[in-house]
Parts: sequence; C-alpha cells; structure tokens
Amino acid sequence: MIQTQLYIDGQWQSPIDQGTRAILSPADESVIAQAAEATRADARLAIAAARKAFDGPWRQTTIRDRAKLLNKIAELIDRDAEKLAHLESLNTGKTLTESRTDMGDIAATFRYFAGLVASESGAVNEAPHHVISRTLREPVGVCGLITPWNYPLLQAAWKIAPALGAGNTVVIKPSNLTPLTTHHFTQLVAELDLPPGVFNLVTGGAEVGADLAESLDVDLVSFTGGAYAGESIMKAATGNFKRIGLELGGKNPNIVFADADLDAAVDYALNAAFFHAGQVCSAGSRLMIEDSIYDAFISRLAERLPRIVIGNGFHGETQMGPVQSAQQHEKILGMVQAGIAEGARLVHGGKRPAGDVFKKGYWLEPTLLADVTADMKIAKEEIFGPVITAERFRSEEEVLRAANDTPYGLAGAVWTRDLDKANRMSRGLRFGTVWVNDYHPYFPEAPWGGYKASGIGRELARVGLDEYTELKHSYINLAPKAMGWFGA
Ligand code: NAD
Repeated sequence: MIQTQLYIDGQWQSPIDQGTRAILSPADESVIAQAAEATRADARLAIAAARKAFDGPWRQTTIRDRAKLLNKIAELIDRDAEKLAHLESLNTGKTLTESRTDMGDIAATFRYFAGLVASESGAVNEAPHHVISRTLREPVGVCGLITPWNYPLLQAAWKIAPALGAGNTVVIKPSNLTPLTTHHFTQLVAELDLPPGVFNLVTGGAEVGADLAESLDVDLVSFTGGAYAGESIMKAATGNFKRIGLELGGKNPNIVFADADLDAAVDYALNAAFFHAGQVCSAGSRLMIEDSIYDAFISRLAERLPRIVIGNGFHGETQMGPVQSAQQHEKILGMVQAGIAEGARLVHGGKRPAGDVFKKGYWLEPTLLADVTADMKIAKEEIFGPVITAERFRSEEEVLRAANDTPYGLAGAVWTRDLDKANRMSRGLRFGTVWVNDYHPYFPEAPWGGYKASGIGRELARVGLDEYTELKHSYINLAPKAMGWFGA
C-alpha cells in the first residue's frame, strides 16, 4: 500500500494531527493508497519554510543554477517516467498511453523553461550618460500552487517549472483525490541538493488551498480548477493583493462546416471529447455541425461510438477509462438526464456499461446527445465527462454568435477547407486557443489560458515565466549633483 507524507522544510513528515485519506481506484473503488491529509496548521509550517528559504540564500541563485535545476528535474522525470505514468493511471483512471504522453510533456515543459530561464538577461534602457537604467526581472516570492485531479502532474509542472526557474520558492497543494504523482515528483526533488524550504508539498483539501490563498506570507497563488474555487481564491487573495493566476473551466465549441475534410472531422470529434473520458478543461464536447451535413455526421458518430473500447487504463486495448470519482459520475449522469428532459435526443450511451467488470468503479459509456439547442443547460455548462452534445447551425454568423455566447473562453476548433473562413472564425471566436482542422495540440512554446471566466493570466510560453516575476526598474545615478530646488 502506498503511503504518502508531507514534505516541509526539507523533511518528510506526517500532518500535525496525523490525518490520512484513503485514495480510491476509479476503476474498482479499491483503496490504492493512504495519503497524508494536511490541515491549515501544516500549510502554515510549509508557508513559513518557503518564506524563510526565499528571504535566505535562495535569492542569490543565478539563472544558470536554476536552469541546471530544471534540466536535472527533467532527467529524473525521464528516469522515472514509467513509474510516474503507472501512478497517474492508477490514480486518475486514464489510459497508460495517455499518462505516458503526459510524462513526456512534463519533461519537455521543464526543459523548455530551463532554456527560457537561461536566456533571461533583462534590458539596459536608454538614459543620460551618468545613469545606468536597467529593467530587471526578479522572483515574486513565495508561490502557492493549487492543482486539480484531471492532469495532476502536468498541471503541477506548468506551475513548478516557471516558479522555480524564476527563483521563487514553492508550496504545492495537489487535489486530495489525486496526490500520488505529485508526491513521487517531490521524492525526485528531495534527491536534489536544494536548500530546505525551497520546495514544499502539502496534500489536503480546500482548507489547505484556502490557507495558501489567504496567507499574507504568500506572494502569488496559481490555481487550476473550477470556477467556484477560483472565485473564492480571487477574493481571498485580496488580503495582501497577491499575484493570481487562474486556469478555470471551459465550454469549448468544436465547429464543423460542410466543406471540411469529414473523415478527419468525425475522427477528431471523438478525440476532442473522449480523451481522459472527457475530463479535460479544453474538451471539445460542444459539437456544432452545419445543417447540410448534420444528419450524416451524427450517423457516422453513432457508428463509431459502440466500437470505443472502455476498460481498465492498464489494458493495452483500452481506449477510454472510467471517470475519476463517484461525485463526477453522478454529476455527469445528472447532466445527461437534464439534457434529455430539455429535449435532447440520446443517440448512444448515457449510462454505466453492462458487464460485471463495470459494476464497481466510475464507468460511463461514451455518450452522444443530438438535437441540442443553444438554450439548453448542457450547451451552456461544463459537463466534464465523456459526453458530446451536438447542435445544428445554418450560417457562419449564427454559429459564431452561439459559440461565443458562454461565460467561458478557453478553447475551440473550426473545421473547414476555406482558408478565408478559417481565418475569420479564428479571429471571431473569443477563446484562448482556437485550432483549425485539429483538436487538442498544445506545447510549451505556445501560451495556454482562457478569456472571460476561463481564467486570468496564461501558462506556458514566455508569458508563463513572466507571470512568476516582478519587473524592476533599477536606476543608478553615477554622478549625483545637488538640484537646489527647495529652499536653496
Ligand atoms: P476544484 O476547483 O474542485 O479543485 C481544484 C483544486 O483546488 C484542488 O486542489 C482543490 O482541493 C482546491 N480547492 C477547492 N476549493 C478551494 C478553495 N476554496 N480554496 C482553495 N483551494 C481550493 O476543481 P477540480 O474538480 O479538481 O478540477 C476540475 C476543474 O478544473 C474543471 O472545471 C476544469 O475545467 C478545470 N481545469 C482547468 C484547466 C485549465 O487549464 N484551464 C486544466 C485542468 C482543469
């Protein structure tokens, strides 16, 4: 049985009140680990350790030291990639193939930020000859990093790599449903010769996250998760006007015009919606299909859906695993029922698959709800499960208006062979990422984040490093002379 601990001030330790939480397998509900469940008191120890480390020698590290550190972490992730991928699949239920891909992306993230950090040099500004004026980037300070359960280590990497690379100290709090890979990652960091307090792990629930958001000793909080928690973090952060980064949910349109390559569009409609059983913030679950191809497109999807292999993520033939928790399972089924009640047509799925192996665990069939209209709850709210809702549209203007008519603005896609239309649509859509004739690709070099209620700030790319820095104007007068302005 895996047992996890907290890592505070360079020491592995149990929570002060000895709290633990059973971690369940989403595939069969068996207990796979006992995780340390911290409280606010533990969070405060971790924050104090991070504060001390930031105010101490860590401030003196050079960009070269920190780039080396990130590269070293990438090497350790490569070394333990298989172990990490197994833990991620065990804890989240996603297929091993997906978890292996995550680990490759995580190592790439650390390497990308290593290169970026090494290239930081600040700027010398034009100024009078007796003045040296420089623009410098400095670390923000203590960073509280709060991550969700769907991509536990990937989301953590997007925060940890730039935070450490920029010279900050870190307290990370993964979701208490899925702490296992962040715990193993911390074991890797513990192998390195970092000063105590630079990197701290506190596993626990909302109250631990709330403490990070409220603490006057935390200078930045970066959060990925739902809008409800995001709102409370934003309010809590006002205590010391700490920097905030929020990566929240989405209601992401996948728009197919009649002139698209339909073989590719049908295939990608499934990829967009069913990776990690649809529990992806950018999942393209809101499928919008042009009227003239609508019926044929739905028929083609209906043929493919029963062939999707549902099963344990560790089995090689599995294409889709379970959803992560009982709560998610119930919420998704409730959304499907709400859709049917509002007049959507259930084409496939909408229930637990048949068979003994699916009796325990959080299993759902891939689901297609057709004839959805823009006013239905399922077209407006994030479902976060393996459900495609299909809407019909008649014109470019109509679909653009409907796709943008959501509080969210994370990601979306357009399928067409018409380049002019592709350009108009990608400019018109109010989303942080717009793919044309593709769905889901992202990489460390390009920014990630949302418009509107999908968040504040960006992760990855140069901007993802800048979020963890303060800009300083350093002005040095080499030849001061009295001005004689006042009372001379
Ligand atoms: P969640 O908001 O319930 O929890 C996220 C994290 O915040 C967890 O660690 C949780 O313990 C903590 N938390 C909960 N309440 C808190 C509070 N009041 N103060 C501080 N911390 C608190 O989200 P979730 O259910 O774990 O994740 C699913 C959500 O995350 C979805 O809405 C999804 O779209 C979003 N998400 C967004 C992105 C993105 O890049 N935009 C990526 C992944 C997931």
